[in-house]
Parts: sequence; C-alpha cells; structure tokens
Amino acid sequence: MTLETAPWASPTARDRMARVASQLGAPTPEAVAGTVQRALRAHARQYDTEGIVLYAGTNVMSSAARAVTDPQVGERPSMGWPGEKYQSGLDHLDVLEVLAPSLMCRLLGARFAEVRSHSATMANLAVYTALAEPGDTIAVLPERAGGHTSHHAVGAPGVRGLRVVDLPYDAGALDVDLAELGPFLERERPRLVVIGASLLLFPHDVAAIAERAHAAGALLLYDASHMAGLVAAGRFQRPLAEGADVLTFSTYKSFGGPPGGVVATDDPAIAERVSAAVFPGLTANYDAARLAPLAVTAAEILADDGAYADRCTAAARTLAEALEREGFAVAGAARGYTASHHVALDVAGLGGGRAAMDRLAAAGIYLSAIGLPWQAPGEPDRGLRLGTQEVVRRGFGADDLRRTAALMGDVLLRGAAPGPIRKTAVHLRREIAHRAG
Ligand SMILES: *Cc1c(COP(=O)(O)O)cnc(C)c1O
Repeated sequence: MTLETAPWASPTARDRMARVASQLGAPTPEAVAGTVQRALRAHARQYDTEGIVLYAGTNVMSSAARAVTDPQVGERPSMGWPGEKYQSGLDHLDVLEVLAPSLMCRLLGARFAEVRSHSATMANLAVYTALAEPGDTIAVLPERAGGHTSHHAVGAPGVRGLRVVDLPYDAGALDVDLAELGPFLERERPRLVVIGASLLLFPHDVAAIAERAHAAGALLLYDASHMAGLVAAGRFQRPLAEGADVLTFSTYKSFGGPPGGVVATDDPAIAERVSAAVFPGLTANYDAARLAPLAVTAAEILADDGAYADRCTAAARTLAEALEREGFAVAGAARGYTASHHVALDVAGLGGGRAAMDRLAAAGIYLSAIGLPWQAPGEPDRGLRLGTQEVVRRGFGADDLRRTAALMGDVLLRGAAPGPIRKTAVHLRREIAHRAG
C-alpha cells in the first residue's frame, strides 16, 4: 500500500515524492533504520563535507556547543519555572533555564530574554499573541523586500487572525519609505510594525521607524533572525537601543546555535505577556536540550568580541567584489554592496533565481533564490541570496571566496557544465578542511 504524502502539492513536488516513495524498503525497524542511515550518510557527505554552503539561513554549531548537545534531555519535559516545575526530579536542568536567558540578556543588552520558543516563527507568533488581538492590523515588509512568511497572512499572523498590510518601501534606500510611513500608519493604524528582513544588506533606520510607529500608537518588532549573530556581537545595529520595543530571532542562522527562537525586550509588561504566550500558550515541552548548546553559543559570542561577526561581513564584501568582477549584477553596489554577511545578486537575466539556484546546486554550491525590492508584482524571484556565516566557520579565506565566485561565474555566466565544476568545488572544500586541520 502506497499512500501519497501530499496529493495537494505541486506536480513537481508530487513527482519527487513519488520517486522517493518508490525506493523505500520494507517497514521493518531494521530496514527503516538502514534507509535512514544511508540517507543521512549521503546527505552529510554531499552537504556538510563536500558542499560549498552559501545558504544564508543555516550554520554549523561550534564543537563546544555540539559537545553539550544531548537529545535525551529533550525527551524529559521540564515544564514551568524552576522551583515550581510540573515534574519532579529534574532540578539539575534548572541551570539551563536560568543560564541561557541570562547569557542572552547580557549579549543583547536587554532586560528580558525568552528562549523557550522552538523557532523564530513561534517566537513571532508569541509576540503577535501577546501584543495583538484577532482582527488587529500589523504592518510588515513586503515579501519582495525580504518580509518573512512568519510576518505575512499566509503564516503566523494569519493563525492569530490578524490583518496584514505591507509597509511602504523605498527600493532605492533598501528600507522602509520614511516619507510615506507617517501618513500610512495614520491610515492603517496597525498594532504592530514588523521590520527585519530575510535579506538585509544595510541596517534599517530603526530610530526613525520607531518614532513614527510610536507616534501612531504602534509597537515596533525587529525580527533579527538573519542578523542575530551580528546583533548579538554588537555589530550591524542595536535594534532595542535604537528604539524597537521587541526583538525576535532564530538561533541557528548567523547566531550559530541550535534551532530555536528568542524574544528579547526591555519592557517588563511585554516580557510577561510574551512569556505566557510561549509557555503555556504555544508550547508544552519546550525542549530543554536546546538550551545547553544555546548557552554555550551565547558564551562564545560574548567571549569572541565580535571577531566572527567581523569576519562574516568582511567575507561578504570580498565575495561581492569578486562576483561583480566576474560580471554578476550585485545589489547595493553604490553603497559598498553590503554591511552584513548577506550578498544579493540580480539574476533575472540568467533565467531567474530558481534556475540559477538549481544550476549552482548541481555544481555543489548551495544557496537560495530570493525576491528583490525592485521586482514587479507577481514576478518570480529574480535574486540569489548568499550568506558567509557558514563558509567563514569552515575556514574559507579571501582567496577561497574569490575561487568560489569564479566557479559561480563559470556555471552561470560562461556556460560551464555543472558536473566538472562540482569536482573543483569538492576539491576546494577538501583543501580548506585540510588546511583548517
Ligand atoms: C528564517 C526566518 C524566520 C524563521 O525562523 P525559524 O526559526 O526557522 O522559524 C523568521 N523571520 C525571519 C526574518 C527569518 O528570516
């Protein structure tokens, strides 16, 4: 008996799932374990060992963080505040629940940090739950400007029953259109303004946006999911100090920790409401196992004094310059390409983001397509987004980044077949791993 996983999915997805389903073995524990092990081994080789990962929404944890990761702890629900747990006998785990948020507060210079959300999506939903009622309006970045699914009606705000409107956006400034913002907020009267994009080359003008939001009676949420590693290191920008009321982020992207979400604020009333929304509102077992590597990662960022963040942004500029020399249309050229670890290419003339991404994947270079602020409504994503947070951890230096840019040029600009390029990419990874020891 073969059940179709998702008969409502696209033809492309259904084809792929049908092909995978046809290769599954018997449903015995041994066969299933074998199937899973083969898949994980092949994945680890293709992606972790041989891949050049420029996908901005991922990272690799440090070996110290990995060393304290014990999945079994996550199988022990430890619910409620230390001292009044629903369960008994778990008091040693209380350390994790005090250590992780207190390190996070130090790192962010915030009074309160809620670390129990399983993801930034859930952290955002907790903020919507705490600060808005069904039927309220929130104003968010348009998708073509990097507004995330968890800001849009199809995602978490829809679950909360919120009305979602797009903020006016200035594609030239790569930020919210400040001239339009005041009148827009007066008209729409949102409860919450959400900024912080999935592609962010330059800081938002948080102070100016906060001033206008507050004047219109709205609170400002800055979603630093992608920027968290920089923000936590005191780089890029300090959203709370600049005027945002709430900060959320993913802990597994530039932050470099385990998957999870954080909500930080200086406002005790907001903190209390968010806390109740996270637990018991949106989680039961919030997975204490995550908190150990999260705490170690936070301590590493604290001790590192911004060095990793600086390497990531320097690498992004090196990569952007090299890609421009190859002949790519690099976004933000007039302003030095980027002030973060992100780089964006406009590949509309090369078949669009999706086609370029697939061609690079065949060459062992992994990243994602993304919308760009100047694309027309309904136009498929015309951009490629690159992030340097993983390659920096893997030991890529300036020369390796230039070689990577050249491989991308070979594949996308000079018509090289991806297969042979993949061999060169794997060789480059081996060389760098060997050098890093
Ligand atoms: C990636 C991302 C998220 C979602 O993060 P998860 O932890 O995977 O839920 C939320 N907001 C923004 C801006 C993101 O880029």
